[in-house]
Order: sequence, then structure tokens, then C-alpha cells
Amino acid sequence: MGRDFLPYGRQIIDNDDVDAVARVLRGDLLTTGPTLARFETAVAERVGASWAVGVSSGTAALHAACYAAGIGPGDEVIVPAISFVASANCARYVGAEPVFADVDPDTGLVLLDDVRRRLTPKTKAIVVVHLTGATVDARAFAALGPTVIEDAAHAVGAIGADGPVGSCASSAMTVFSFHPVKTMTCAEGGMITGNDPLLRDRLRGFRHHGIVTEADGGPWYYEQRELGFNYRLSDVHAALGLSQLGKLDRFLERRRQLARHYHGLLDDIDHIRPVTREPEIATHGHHLYSVLIDFEALGADRARVMTWLRERGIGTQVHYIPIPAQPYYRDRGWKAEDFGGAVAYYRRTLSLPMFPTMTTDDVERVVSALSEALAAAR
Ligand SMILES: *Cc1c(COP(=O)(O)O)cnc(C)c1O
Repeated sequence: MGRDFLPYGRQIIDNDDVDAVARVLRGDLLTTGPTLARFETAVAERVGASWAVGVSSGTAALHAACYAAGIGPGDEVIVPAISFVASANCARYVGAEPVFADVDPDTGLVLLDDVRRRLTPKTKAIVVVHLTGATVDARAFAALGPTVIEDAAHAVGAIGADGPVGSCASSAMTVFSFHPVKTMTCAEGGMITGNDPLLRDRLRGFRHHGIVTEADGGPWYYEQRELGFNYRLSDVHAALGLSQLGKLDRFLERRRQLARHYHGLLDDIDHIRPVTREPEIATHGHHLYSVLIDFEALGADRARVMTWLRERGIGTQVHYIPIPAQPYYRDRGWKAEDFGGAVAYYRRTLSLPMFPTMTTDDVERVVSALSEALAAAR
């Protein structure tokens, strides 16, 4: 891959990010010190939640949220059929079963009616996913009854129908990921936000072995009251996250500009359309710039299109293979064919390069290469 390769997403690290990390490395506390606390406070303030608890990844955040919500063996957790596998695996981590719900074939967002249809007396929670950065209305899902956990790995900085994503105005908890491909990064890191202090305390215990240190039994004393993990977010990672958070608005503004530029150019091409509608651009999280391509109508093969683009320095990706199609879930009795919306979305989706240091020339290069690729792949 040459210098000019455009991946579908990538991190932007400036000198001040490096300096922020170096300052922590030269200090006394490398993990769970004052920088983590500052990062948590800053994220809670940014999204308008009462608290935020940092953990070592978005996946750890989902696991911790399921634990804190009291989900366990015998429980069912409704999960969209289109998402990253971690959105479903978190139910398995706590011994519960994910129950997949179908998605809108044109947006990939989970369908309220299909979730309602899958409710049973065992349904303990619903994981909603703000896919690509488009928001689902958490209020409507909360009205169904079970605990709602928002997977906002794609939606840091997005605004939903009930306010900033992460404010948890109607959900119990919101989960973020700061993996390098996401909108802002810690290298590896995640965060849970919410408003119920009992959930916050459970999350804090869970990320540190279930240990409580405030117990009054002497200076050496600590008590393990529950089974937790080491899911701590280090101060080194938190320093990067805090520095990146200061740039989030700039990152988002640039992503909005690039999305608008893509929209204008794609308007002229038959059988391609952006997943995000123009009016949604202002409130979208813009993690992914996904388009729907009618490969069948064009008589083009997606794998060939992707290879053709890659050879010309343009990275694309498919988000996502329906989770019920994964061998692990097939073995548990699920079939992707039962999710018509998910299959229709999966067949057509392609994520194009989107990251803040792209230029408008880059966007033009991607769109013209894509039209050529579609013609070449017939
Ligand atoms: C990235 C992602 C996760 C997991 O986050 P990690 O930080 O990589 O563990 C969970 N859900 C969705 C939708 C994601 O895109």
C-alpha cells in the first residue's frame, strides 16, 4: 500500500496527541489515575450524561453494560442482525442468548416492529446500534419495556431524537468505542455513559475484578464481592482519548463536509445511493460513509469492484455480514435467510473512504474510480 492509499477509515494523530501521551508516560501513574478521571468527566459533560466509566475497549464496555444491567443465564437480549459481532457477543459473555431482530434494508437500522415481535417474557434487554453514525430513536425502544443499551461505537458526537447520543435520556446506558478506526481514538478503549449511580458503581467494580476498596477493614483491606475482570482503561490511553476529544467537533465538521461532497457527486450515478439522507448529515456521527449499490442491476461483482479499487489505492469494506450468518451463531440455530432486511442491506452495502484528513480531491478520486470499477467489473 503506497502513501496515497485511502483506507475506508483511519485515525488522525497530531503532535499534541503525542505530547499528551508522553506527559503521562513521564509521570507517576500510568493507569487508573487522574487522567482517566478527567477523560471520564469530559465525555460525560460532552454527551450530557451524569457519569462515564472508561474501560479497555468497546467490547469490554458492552460486556460491562450487560453485567451491570443484571443480564444473566436464561435471559434474552434482542440485537440487530446487522452490526459488528461484539454487539451480540456481549449477551453470550454473561450467559444470556442474543435474539436477532431484522433491520431496514435501506438503512441497516434495527426495526422497531421486528424487535416488538421478538419480545418474550425472557427479554431482559435490547441493544440498539446507531449503525454508520445514523441514530435510532432510543425512546421508541425504551417504551417496549426491557432495558435499552445503546451501542454507539459509530456515533460519538451524533445527535439523536432524545438528545446527544450518550445522554441516555431514554436508555439505561450508552457504549462507545475508541478503536483507531472510530471517530476518535484511545488506541484501544471504550466508555459507558449513563445516569443511574447504581449502574456506575457496578461498572466500576466490574472493570476491577469486582473489588471494593472503600471497605473499612484496615489499611491493607479490600473485598472482592462479585466476579469482575481487569477491564481498566490506562491513563496512557485516556491521555490520548482526552486529547482527541478536544478535536471531536473539528473531526465531525470535516466528516460532514466530506459527506456532503460525496452526496453531490453520487447524485449523478445510477444504482448507487448513500445510506445517509442529506438532511441527516448535520446530526449523524459519520463513522462510516456507506453507500448502497445495486450490484445485480449493474451486473457487477462486489468482490471484483473492491479488488479493482484496492489496486488503485482505494480501500473499501463491507459493514457488515449479518451476525446470524456467522458460523458461531449458525451453530446456535440462526439463519441469515430469516432476516430479509439484513440480507438485502448486506448484498448492497459498501463503505467508502471517510476520515478527516481526506481532501475533496480524494472524494472525487474515489467516486470516479468507483464508477469505472462498476463498469470494469461487469
Ligand atoms: C467497534 C465496534 C465495537 C467494539 O469496539 P472495540 O473497541 O473494537 O472493542 C462494538 N460495536 C460496534 C458496532 C463496533 O463498530
